[in-house]
Amino acid sequence: MSAHDVDLFVIGAGSGGVRAARIAAGYGAKVAIAEDFRIGGTCVIRGCVPKKLYVYASRFADDFADAAGFGWRLPAPPVFDWPSLVAAKEREITRLSGLYAANLEKAGVAIHADRAVLLGPNEVMLVRAGKRVAARHILVATGGAPQQVPLFPGIELTISSNEVFDLPRLPRAMLIVGGGYVAVEFASLFARLGTKVTLAMRADRPLRGFDDDLREGVADALTRAGVDLRCGHMPARAEKSGEGLVVTMSDGARLDADVVMMATGRAPATHGLGLEQAGVACDRHGAIVVDAFSRTNVGSIHAVGDVTNRVNLTPVAIREGHAFADTVFGGKSVAVDHATIATAVFTTPEIGTVGISEAAAIADHGDVDVYKTAFRPMRATLAGGEQRMMMKIVVDAKTDRVLGVHILGEGAGEMAQLLGIALKMGATKADFDATMAVHPTAAEELVTMRSPTTRHRR
Ligand code: NDP
Repeated sequence: MSAHDVDLFVIGAGSGGVRAARIAAGYGAKVAIAEDFRIGGTCVIRGCVPKKLYVYASRFADDFADAAGFGWRLPAPPVFDWPSLVAAKEREITRLSGLYAANLEKAGVAIHADRAVLLGPNEVMLVRAGKRVAARHILVATGGAPQQVPLFPGIELTISSNEVFDLPRLPRAMLIVGGGYVAVEFASLFARLGTKVTLAMRADRPLRGFDDDLREGVADALTRAGVDLRCGHMPARAEKSGEGLVVTMSDGARLDADVVMMATGRAPATHGLGLEQAGVACDRHGAIVVDAFSRTNVGSIHAVGDVTNRVNLTPVAIREGHAFADTVFGGKSVAVDHATIATAVFTTPEIGTVGISEAAAIADHGDVDVYKTAFRPMRATLAGGEQRMMMKIVVDAKTDRVLGVHILGEGAGEMAQLLGIALKMGATKADFDATMAVHPTAAEELVTMRSPTTRHRR
């Protein structure tokens, strides 16, 4: 008889943990999983999924505005009802969470609605149940949590993306702090739903690390959507004022807002997990240190997803969870390749991007050709407005290899997924040129840009 109660105990039923549990169980392992919030994790419950639903909701504002150009006469100005959206979102994430639970059960995984902490290399404690479980392997997949930084007087009056989905009413005025994915996506969507949005960040432009043309394009699109951009300014103090808050900014400006949302990044959720007791090493940001196979320094303990702070994206956590199960229970050694990951930012217009930016390409490769186009999307010809779409291909001039593709415009996220395959295969600019266009689409521009707009030479 085994000395262990289970072959695998997974802490955290988010994207990475659920995938690992199901695949390991499929290989015949006896698996248990603990989740102290809701099954599905950040992505399903208060991240990617509800965010995308809210983005869809917000884009009807553009559709209604554009409709007149195509002959539609709307009888009265459309009215948006926030509680209806929140309720519809809740139904959908409850359905998804239920599906996740059902799939785990179907795979034979035992689910504990409880907080689990490590007691040692092969033992966890279910806190509410007061029960110890001995496990041959433990997988930590606890994800991350919003970090509200830097501290200022009144920061306890602010919220994070955890709370924003379920606000009791649509904010009249909202201050969003930060310039990353979360900040720009929520600024873009709340502005469209009718909130007066101010977006403050320490940087001179949003989305540090993205290609500069995308950063400028998003800043411009946010301004056009009515967002008041305060770059280089952060809150210095927040105080209650009637039903809302008054915020004093670092430049002395005072802002009224019903809601202040901090979107200043996320930190690995390792606090109080018992990692020290189990001897698991963390880095200075609190992330669990792992190797290419998601192994920690303790042989029986692995970690996947945001808790390891590698590339903090849902599909990456899923891949890491799957690779862990293949390696430990499936008899195949699978390491996750974290290079060239396509990603999208769901502002309106949205970003789709894969590979490296123009600036990074120049730094890394020296001789770089850039093919860039900015045009009015076809829909805007009848709808009117100043909408522009931007596409950029960054090419290594010596080898002709495409190093990066960056798109700002409708459907950019969908395009990035497919471009991800091409770049992963090592596509050259000649491969793009040899590909026939799909007409009339916006994406056809990707295969019809003939001459470089800029040639960088060392
Ligand atoms: P990001 O890491 O994208 O951005 C963090 C922002 O906070 C940056 O603007 C950063 O500023 C700012 N910041 C960090 N520390 C401080 C500080 N001490 N003072 C002032 N500003 C600070 O984090 P998000 O919270 O936006 O998103 C969290 C993660 O979730 C992302 O890493 C992303 O992987 C994931 N995500 C993915 C989405 C998608 O795929 N579409 C959508 C939403 C989230 P600076 O730029 O100056 O460093």
